[in-house]
Amino acid sequence: MLRIQRIYIEAGARDYPLTRRLLARLPGVPVEDIPDRAVLQRRGSEPAAWLAESKTALLLAVQKGPFWRPCPGTRDYICCGYQTLQVTVNCPFDCTYCILQGYVNLPVTTVFVNVEDLLAELERKFAATPGRIWRLGTGEFGDSLALDHLMGLNEQLIPFFGRYPRAILEIKTKDHAVAPLLPLGPNSQVIFAWSLNPPALIRKHELGTAALEARLQAARQAQAAGFRLAFHFDPIIFFPGWEEAYRRTVAWLGAAVSPEAVAWISLGALRFLPPLRRIIFRRFPHSRYAAAEMVLAPDGKLRYFKSLRLELYAPARRS
Ligand code: SF4
Repeated sequence: MLRIQRIYIEAGARDYPLTRRLLARLPGVPVEDIPDRAVLQRRGSEPAAWLAESKTALLLAVQKGPFWRPCPGTRDYICCGYQTLQVTVNCPFDCTYCILQGYVNLPVTTVFVNVEDLLAELERKFAATPGRIWRLGTGEFGDSLALDHLMGLNEQLIPFFGRYPRAILEIKTKDHAVAPLLPLGPNSQVIFAWSLNPPALIRKHELGTAALEARLQAARQAQAAGFRLAFHFDPIIFFPGWEEAYRRTVAWLGAAVSPEAVAWISLGALRFLPPLRRIIFRRFPHSRYAAAEMVLAPDGKLRYFKSLRLELYAPARRS
């Protein structure tokens, strides 16, 4: 992971416990107060020119809208009802295929510091929907663990979710730093989830993240501490030898954790909105997978041809 080199504090965000904690845990890092995040915008310059910088700068800001945002799903596709909590935007890791590259509009990783408002919003929503089961996650707009050694957010969220048996929190990550959270188990409301890919893909395309072995070791530890687990093979990337590489990855997963602890496994083949292709080529010219022949799907995303998608999913259906 890249080292944080600069901190911006938006007006109104100074006087929060999370701001104080972050500043205390990043001594010596230059701090600048700004009136509004708009001053950081690089108008007229391509995202590829400043995305690397966005991985090393934090913006501490107040979430003025809702933290809780229903996942928009994909038009014409079946929605799984997942709910997202926007606690950060962007991530210090640097996956070459990361869809956030086409989404962030500031050269920073934003951390929303008003955790008290997040907890109050969750309480209100749970109280208003007593019969509903909610599946929520903090890993859609960033990595749920990558900044946790600085934020300490999961130390608050894990016991909080333990009090609401109809709510499930997914902590989705490519990191391995679960050790400080293990004493908070057992807690069956909390699911630690890892995105998995073959080791060669991780080394080349998931920059700064934990190695596969470290992720599986962390999963084993989380299971032993009494948490449930989930795994995401997403994005599945096609390359010569893909089937054997993914088969070995699944075998390592099977050897690392017991199936009873696994709440769900998801699969998703590589897909992205067309402008991301240009960003990937600009930032990571070696990423030949992005040059694959793809079709524009009805949802506006580029996807592998259907025949290839079926081939990529077939081994999972057979096993
Ligand atoms: S870990 Fe997730 S959010 Fe972070 S760069 Fe990789 S894909 Fe993007």
